[in-house]
Amino acid sequence: MSEYDAIVEKLRIKKTELENRLGKVASSMRKTYAKDWEEQSIERENDEVVEALDESIRTELNLVNTALARVDRGEYGICAVCDEPIPVARLEALPYTDRCVSCASESE
Ligand SMILES: [Zn+2]
Repeated sequence: MSEYDAIVEKLRIKKTELENRLGKVASSMRKTYAKDWEEQSIERENDEVVEALDESIRTELNLVNTALARVDRGEYGICAVCDEPIPVARLEALPYTDRCVSCASESE
């Protein structure tokens, strides 16, 4: 797995960055949520006040979390369709991808 370490590290940094941005958006919308953000227990209860910016950060954060969950399961870098290894160069360009080039092009 060591060849993926640099990419995984970038994903973790990205996650922190996105969570910080999300926290800023939220605190500017509702100061009372400060405690919840600290506890990292953000649920859907504040979706009503979610705006476009918030939505796009969330979407990206979901992708990062999905990729990191695949890292935890030891599936990162393996194509979800054909089980073949995904080239590191592709992961560097598209760190959230779970498909190899040929499977991705088939689904598009
Ligand atoms: Zn594949």
